[in-house]
Amino acid sequence: MAEITPWYNTRIDCPVCDSKIEYTKIRYKSIKLLKQDTDFCPYYEGENPLFYEAVICPECGYGAHVTSFQSINKYEKARIREMITKRWKKRSFTGHRTLEKALEAFKLVLLNLTDMEAPKSEIAKICLRIAWLYRYRNDSENERKFLEHALKNYMDAYGQEDLSTEGKIDEYTCLFIIGELCKRLNRYDDSIKWFSRLIMLNADPQHKDKIPQRLMETARDLIQEIKDHMAAAKEETN
Ligand SMILES: [Zn+2]
Repeated sequence: MAEITPWYNTRIDCPVCDSKIEYTKIRYKSIKLLKQDTDFCPYYEGENPLFYEAVICPECGYGAHVTSFQSINKYEKARIREMITKRWKKRSFTGHRTLEKALEAFKLVLLNLTDMEAPKSEIAKICLRIAWLYRYRNDSENERKFLEHALKNYMDAYGQEDLSTEGKIDEYTCLFIIGELCKRLNRYDDSIKWFSRLIMLNADPQHKDKIPQRLMETARDLIQEIKDHMAAAKEETN
């Protein structure tokens, strides 16, 4: 009897070159979510499904997050054919992924998104995941670099995009993640400012029902953490 692997291949049509391609998914029964960091970075027992979220077409080089692979418009397709496919050397990304292979796939997706001038929220989502991959590797320098990129793009997204569109991060989670990333990057005043905007929205009955209350609790905890940290730092310098 063949051994059952935690991963399997599934078929999808590439929207850029129309090839029928395969990409690899993880059997959710084979894994368990152990915990998540405050910026939602997940830790699993068993194979990490995050490694497989970057889907790459082996034929034309188009790549996207698994949840948005099919949502690409005419203009973006033309950009990919021009900027990516012309330089693409055919290669496969199916099968088991190491952390290094996952990084390579995610960086290709980031290149695709930048070349097709994708929405900032989508770019931010990929940058955040690349930062997590570096966190798993204890590479804090590269982690910070990609947290910075994620933060900048989430801020742009918050200012420019309609975040009520389906499939996008909602405005509350976006505010939260901006506050959280500021905190991770030691911008404590900014962090408090962004978390406070979320707390202000929560005081408005029009918004309150839409805000996950766990997000609010975490935001309040994080503000307290920052205040304690700042007070302690002040004490040290006195
Ligand atoms: Zn393709």
